[in-house]
Amino acid sequence: MSLIILKVLLRYCTETDPSRKTAKNPVRTRLRSLGTWRETGKDKAYVCGLEDFPREKQVPVPDIPPWQVPETFTCCSKLGEGISKADAPEELKKAVEDTMKKLNKPDVEVFTDGSARDSVFFLGGGILVIEKEERHSLSIAAGRYGSSHRAESMALKKALSWLQEREKEDTINLYTESQSLVRRLEEGPTLTKTSLENEMWTLIHQICSRNATNLHIQWIPGYCGIAGNDEADHLANQGQIEDQREVEIDLKTAKAVSKRHVLDTIWAPQNVHESQPAGIRPPPTRDKEAGLSRRERVVLAQLCCNGKSPILQKYLYDIGASPCDACLQCGQSPDDLHHALYDCPEVDFFRSLIPGDPMESLWESPAQMIEFLRASQRLPIA
Ligand SMILES: [Zn+2]
Repeated sequence: MSLIILKVLLRYCTETDPSRKTAKNPVRTRLRSLGTWRETGKDKAYVCGLEDFPREKQVPVPDIPPWQVPETFTCCSKLGEGISKADAPEELKKAVEDTMKKLNKPDVEVFTDGSARDSVFFLGGGILVIEKEERHSLSIAAGRYGSSHRAESMALKKALSWLQEREKEDTINLYTESQSLVRRLEEGPTLTKTSLENEMWTLIHQICSRNATNLHIQWIPGYCGIAGNDEADHLANQGQIEDQREVEIDLKTAKAVSKRHVLDTIWAPQNVHESQPAGIRPPPTRDKEAGLSRRERVVLAQLCCNGKSPILQKYLYDIGASPCDACLQCGQSPDDLHHALYDCPEVDFFRSLIPGDPMESLWESPAQMIEFLRASQRLPIA
């Protein structure tokens, strides 16, 4: 993980940052030049505030063949024909109640909810279990960083593991506020991408295999006055203030945190563009192309896409627009991006217009690159 965080940081670091030079190298060179890249990665991760959170396993190896979905498991991310999140709360409430009535009569009802401060910090999960007269409620910390989706997933996982530890045969209905999460479950376990999803499916299998326990997971919209759901929401907010240090962090979140750190603390203050209102910051590469015409910028973008540009004979030949792929200046074949930038002897003299490596200059010095292309008669003189 350290290496990946380091990669993210290097990619976004500013031009004055000494790490920039390393960042430009290909991966192999980069690793060789950073003797202790693992240490550097750790240091940088610490700077971003990632500290020593336990890390979630990266590549999930399903414990159960992913094509097996338990027969007694069902889930549903809809309420009924024509009902959507945007409907009025009263209508939604009625739709939820109708849906709940239609489902099998449960022995246990579970409501889960997840929340995150500003959608990215201090995740909390809330779980409410209603079993006849008994009620169990639980608040959990779901991570120092993450997303609302992750908070919802953590809450659901916790609810499943609670259910799994009980040794009773029931019909269980579980309600969650996260439609995207239920949609993921509807897609089945074959598409499982994260350890968290893998754990959820494993728990679902374990619960359902207990004397054919019926488990149904139902999406219900939030804030429409369903008592159990409101209570779970409240529990999730409490979960935000629990101790987050022992909660695992996943790779996606770690990447987002390091990217945010660089953008907020290093890059943004240096790159506020004068012509834009505060807050809108065009990426630096676009600034470099500011003086160029639209056509010139298009050509640069085409060249950056592996030379798929009509200024190269090889491309014209490939798409059937030219009878041969030889260079119009020197006659050598094929006239591809490498030939135009490095090899063509006819334009040797003009290559001094390009500072540094031609391929890199496509991104780094667009104005000079355009000068060179004009001098080599691939673009009209302005
Ligand atoms: Zn040539």
